[in-house]
Amino acid sequence: MKITSVQATWVHVPIPFERQHVSDFGRIASFDSVVVKITADGGLHGWGEAKAGVGSAASAHDISRLWDVMYNTPREGYAVDRGHVLPQLGRRGLSISAIAGVDIALWDLLGKSLGAPVWRLLGGRRAERMPAYASGGWADEARIGEQLLGYVEKGGFRAVKMRVGVMDGEPHKSAARVRAARKALGPDVKLMADAHGTWTVAEAKAFCRMVEDCDLYWLEEPVTADDKTGLAEVRRASAVPISTGESEFTRHDFREIAELRAADILQPDLAIAGGITEGVRIGAVASAYNLRLAPHLWSGAPAFAAGVALAASQSAGFILEYSLGANPMLHELVHETFTVVDGQIEIPDRPGLGITVDEDFVRRHARR
Ligand SMILES: [Mg+2]
Repeated sequence: MKITSVQATWVHVPIPFERQHVSDFGRIASFDSVVVKITADGGLHGWGEAKAGVGSAASAHDISRLWDVMYNTPREGYAVDRGHVLPQLGRRGLSISAIAGVDIALWDLLGKSLGAPVWRLLGGRRAERMPAYASGGWADEARIGEQLLGYVEKGGFRAVKMRVGVMDGEPHKSAARVRAARKALGPDVKLMADAHGTWTVAEAKAFCRMVEDCDLYWLEEPVTADDKTGLAEVRRASAVPISTGESEFTRHDFREIAELRAADILQPDLAIAGGITEGVRIGAVASAYNLRLAPHLWSGAPAFAAGVALAASQSAGFILEYSLGANPMLHELVHETFTVVDGQIEIPDRPGLGITVDEDFVRRHARR
């Protein structure tokens, strides 16, 4: 089988105002990703996805400040104000993201050519369905309980994740939102909090101390991916399990986290970290260091399906992220639907990644 073409398209999908959410990344008005199509002789094709952040700056005098703006956009306001980095998702390795897009498409192509799902090529699925957690939770202290309970009702989720961090102002305000959430959910629904890497080590430690009785299932990215020893310090200071990984690239970043004992759960985003091939290696790191694996699945359908295949086939895989924000690249890019029933997602039996990309959708939202 020979490759005859590789085509990458920046897909930009506007989100209607009423479905937009606000976090430390600002108001999310569009969903952007790069969709990769690899065609082989005979006409068979595979689909992949690559992600990268973009930054821009307008005036040219204060060079050091401008560097901070470029590195931290769209969170440059917080970064300049607080004096520590809140970098963009693509802070490193554009080439690794590009490799990821090609790699995911090649696995899809290989699966289709053999009539086998990708998870089978990775050693088989460990179950026909896996538990999923609802990922969202931006509401304020007064409404967070209602918002998270809405997720539980929607898909029977037994686990929900809320956002915390710099968007709340101070750690005690995030802690108050977590307490309100736990009170509304009761003791039996798992609750996670995601700080998007926005706190200092001291702030993260203070937060952990304040929520120690809230039974958090994990605290995600308490500090920036640029401070892995700081992350280890946060983990050592508290009993709250720590997760991280959506801003990390390749197995080498994850090995460093594991060696530092900086996290309990590794969360590679396959469209960032290097694709399925690298995801398998990261899964091996997780397993060797007695850690768990929960791929970051806030993405379009190709990277979502790739992450599901990885989690389903790895010893350390245990739970799937399911975005409750507006996500047209997950729900409209492909003809298939990923539904959650009783808090579980089916591991699809279809060849390759099990997705059929709507090429009209790609053309309609293509940016050049
Ligand atoms: Mg996250």
